[in-house]
Amino acid sequence: MPAQEVDVLVIGAGPTGLGAAKRLNQLKSASWALVDANEEAGGLASTDETSEGFLFDVGGHVIFSHYAYFDDVLKQALPKPEDWYEHQRVSYVRSRDVWVPYPYQNNISVIPTDDQVKCIEGMVDAAELRARATAAPKTFDEWIMRMMGQGLADIFMRPYNFKVWAVPTTLMQCKWLGERVAAPNLKTVISNTLTKKVAGNWGPNATFKFPARDGTGGIWKAVAKTLPQDKLHFKQRVTKVDADGHMVHLSDGSEIRYKHLITTMGLDYLVKNLDGIDHATKDLLVKTAKDKLVYSSTHVIGIGIRGELPNRIGDKCWLYFPEDDCPFYRATIFSNYSPYNCPASDKALPTLQYADPSLGQPSNSEPQKGPYWSLMMEVSESHLKPVNHETLLADTIRGCVNTQLLMPDSEIVSTYHRTFTPGYPTPSLERDEALQEILPVLLERFQILSRGRFGSWKYEVGNQDHSFMLGVEAVDRALFGAPEMTLDSPDFVNGRRNTERRLAE
Ligand SMILES: Cc1cc2nc3c(=O)[nH]c(=O)nc-3n(C[C@H](O)[C@H](O)[C@H](O)COP(=O)(O)OP(=O)(O)OC[C@H]3O[C@@H](n4cnc5c(N)ncnc54)[C@H](O)[C@@H]3O)c2cc1C
Repeated sequence: MPAQEVDVLVIGAGPTGLGAAKRLNQLKSASWALVDANEEAGGLASTDETSEGFLFDVGGHVIFSHYAYFDDVLKQALPKPEDWYEHQRVSYVRSRDVWVPYPYQNNISVIPTDDQVKCIEGMVDAAELRARATAAPKTFDEWIMRMMGQGLADIFMRPYNFKVWAVPTTLMQCKWLGERVAAPNLKTVISNTLTKKVAGNWGPNATFKFPARDGTGGIWKAVAKTLPQDKLHFKQRVTKVDADGHMVHLSDGSEIRYKHLITTMGLDYLVKNLDGIDHATKDLLVKTAKDKLVYSSTHVIGIGIRGELPNRIGDKCWLYFPEDDCPFYRATIFSNYSPYNCPASDKALPTLQYADPSLGQPSNSEPQKGPYWSLMMEVSESHLKPVNHETLLADTIRGCVNTQLLMPDSEIVSTYHRTFTPGYPTPSLERDEALQEILPVLLERFQILSRGRFGSWKYEVGNQDHSFMLGVEAVDRALFGAPEMTLDSPDFVNGRRNTERRLAE
């Protein structure tokens, strides 16, 4: 059978691949097709459902859009007001057994006095460091010391960031932070501390919206439905890319020829599976990716609980955990995002266990009705931060009790644990060098645009809105040679509302 032939082939139906597909479908000037190994669209922005009816995303996913085009696409896919819930961000850091409002550094007025002293002394030293600095900081750790100082570094920034990234801050670069995170204002911190004031809601993410139905994955399934279905090919894994021959090989033995390839597969996987390229170049690309691109895995642990939402939880959205009384760095009160993230309260479910197993098995094993609420936790893993997969669920539940998310007698009716590898693209010290060595070769010699969370490996433009626009801009680059602002100028796109493109169909 002759190979199918298209102008643009897109690999992946996550946000990046769907961005490329939406743009191609809008322009209608090139033939195209999309393939994905999964059964449906969404990639890492998908949602699972437990057998008891609790939904869990791949960790805390919320939409903060920098782009009018992205908003247009979401509005077209989920157009009704009742398709969405709008929320105020209510976010805290669990520190020394109290909830410190986010961001931590602006709210040290609520932490113990000896910690306040350490933080303020550190901020004074940091201000001095900044005044004397002659060059930009090289590592994330140097950045922390210069912007926040020793006290905040030791109490919050270092332990928290190790839990998130599974890599010490000394092995991370700081360019990814851009201009976004300002040093805390020393005068405000001191006066707030003395007057015991708490700083107000902060930053660009003070409100966010969440889909009413089907979790985050529902967004991307709805976006996929707006595309011509005959161009989307699921359950098709790409096994080889013949770079010189401009052809991909699929797991069912078929082949697709292309003029331009937009791939959202992991960049490391792509270079390993390139054919039609001289050995020396391939070896170099593979070695660069292996040595210089770093990732961590993400475990998502979900818990469904019977009972009214406790007052101590209230309207909290997501919570950060820098300390070692729990394995997770973040917990999301997922039932607060949409009531449909839990089963209806008239659904009867048996209690699987109490949160503290030392209370013994529940005496009543009969299914009982709700109401229900749910928690979703994230735990990172790398070779520098191993995780015991066997005990992680039990360790997480114990961590929930330690941090008062759950009480010992909370009735657990559903559990979920899934590991995503890779989960986070680490801004490692040599990342930018590696991308500079690999991406231009792929584009200039082979017309391959590797884009997306792990296609172009840039955390700072790795959220759903960014990923989607990486796909859109890759199409404009392939077809018209247009610059890719999201890939090449993350600070620029993150610092403004981008309105250059609109979806007008
Ligand atoms: C823990 C966590 C929390 C996050 N929180 C947020 C958040 O709060 N807000 C936000 O906006 N974003 C968040 N994100 C980021 C969001 O998930 C990503 O932006 C998005 O999923 C990246 O899209 P992508 O298309 O680049 O990659 P992916 O979603 O990884 O999609 C890649 C697709 O390619 C397919 N594929 C891979 N290899 C092959 C192959 N060989 N053959 C065929 N198909 C293949 C996969 O099946 C997949 O569908 C979070 C991500 C994680 C992991």
